[in-house]
Amino acid sequence: MTTLLRTDRLSKTFDGKEAVKDISMTIRQGEIYGFLGPNGAGKTTVMKMITGLVRPSAGEIEFLGNPVRAGQSLELLKRMGCIIEYPVFYDRLSGRENLELHGEYMGYYNPEAVDNALSAVGLDLRDSRPVKQYSLGMKQRLGIARAMMTRPELLILDEPINGLDPVGIREMRELFRRLSRDYGMTLLISSHILGEIEQIADTIGVIRSGRLVREVAMEEVRGRDTDYIELVTPD
Ligand code: ATP
Repeated sequence: MTTLLRTDRLSKTFDGKEAVKDISMTIRQGEIYGFLGPNGAGKTTVMKMITGLVRPSAGEIEFLGNPVRAGQSLELLKRMGCIIEYPVFYDRLSGRENLELHGEYMGYYNPEAVDNALSAVGLDLRDSRPVKQYSLGMKQRLGIARAMMTRPELLILDEPINGLDPVGIREMRELFRRLSRDYGMTLLISSHILGEIEQIADTIGVIRSGRLVREVAMEEVRGRDTDYIELVTPD
């Protein structure tokens, strides 16, 4: 499979403290990459460096063959949809109005893109309720729809399942599968709970104290005697 994103010895130091150290990872086109690690392990910092929100202290990032730098061009950013922390919306506007406003502000509004993004995430195109009446799961979907308006190659989702109830978790997993299968999207999804991502991830990268301690190809361990839980939860 083609490489979509590659990091090479990516590191970040905050006030002398190493939050991320020498992370080299490869995400292939079309895969779901689960980024697993406890709170504070450095997942968000890696994601922010990938999207250019945080400047790395050292290391390189390559996306679609182009180097990624903090403050990168809008053109490259459009190809990378990113939902870090809970997405924020105009509460009194409907989901559709939020997407329209966002598209206009960013200079890429078109009604078809709004319709496509809403239906991709399974939201009702005619729902006129204000977003303040949305459940957390619906807001997460709307956040994904907003990120999808530019049809990015890569979606980066920071703990998207956090706080959802069991039904919401199942629906969210189904959505990720659909985005991968029907839309050919590549997904980078972080989580601190293995059970949230093990069923959908093609690869799981385990991060501990800022280091990538293991990468497991799920195809190789699923359905075998290997106790992969041991593989993805090293001491
Ligand atoms: P969580 O799920 O809790 O967000 P995480 O794996 O995403 O965890 P990060 O948020 O990337 O972890 O944090 C990694 C480490 O870097 C933590 O020790 C955190 O306190 C530190 N850190 C993150 N951002 C900053 C910052 N802007 N200034 C100082 N330290 C920071």
